[in-house]
Amino acid sequence: MESIFISDLHLDKTRPSAVNHFMEFIRDRLPTMENLYILGDFVESWVGDDDPADGVIDAFEIIKSISKKTKIYFMHGNRDFMISSNICNKYGMELIEDPTLVKLYNKRVLLMHGDTLCIDDLKYQEFRQLVRDKSWQKQMMQKSLEERLMIADTLRNKSMHETTNKEEFIMDVNEEEVKKCFIKSDAEIIIHGHTHRPMVHEVEIGKRKHKRVVLGDWGSKSHVLILSKKILELQEIQLK
Ligand code: MN
Repeated sequence: MESIFISDLHLDKTRPSAVNHFMEFIRDRLPTMENLYILGDFVESWVGDDDPADGVIDAFEIIKSISKKTKIYFMHGNRDFMISSNICNKYGMELIEDPTLVKLYNKRVLLMHGDTLCIDDLKYQEFRQLVRDKSWQKQMMQKSLEERLMIADTLRNKSMHETTNKEEFIMDVNEEEVKKCFIKSDAEIIIHGHTHRPMVHEVEIGKRKHKRVVLGDWGSKSHVLILSKKILELQEIQLK
């Protein structure tokens, strides 16, 4: 039996094939999957409990359908942080904090979405602080659904535009911040997504070697992490 870690699917009504890929993937891995960790940006946007989930509802339904057999954990990303614990419960998922330390197969593993490691992107960190603020979210929820959907669209376009103009290193993790997280949590492994740069990095701190696993986003292919007693493998999966 194994634990599977995924992130950055960015499911959205404009890409129905991605929803189908996810469902195929789940059916495929179900027999040996004891835990599924979704580490943020499962959907491209979410505006509140009344979100119509246009085009992505099947992905939530399949999660619900396997939740008796597989334990499913859900962490917020920067796209779907408005998914409430009520919504998670509705689909059989447990909402977990970013970061969360778990002990799996005798290893201390720190789970994160990854955006909090990108501290060189000051503008983004400022924005993050604003939208993660409970009173900002409360104000947002007082607007009509239509208005919120429109705001989400605007923010998305703005972020896409800004991303193309940012230097590569600014959008990656800050190595010192990574080391801080290892030291503070005493974790052997950090698993995160967000940067869309799948890789297993060795991080040396003093005499200890740690691993930082970066998951991939879901385009024509993806990278997911398989963890078990014997295996730590960042697996490339081809999406048909
Ligand atoms: Mn992200």
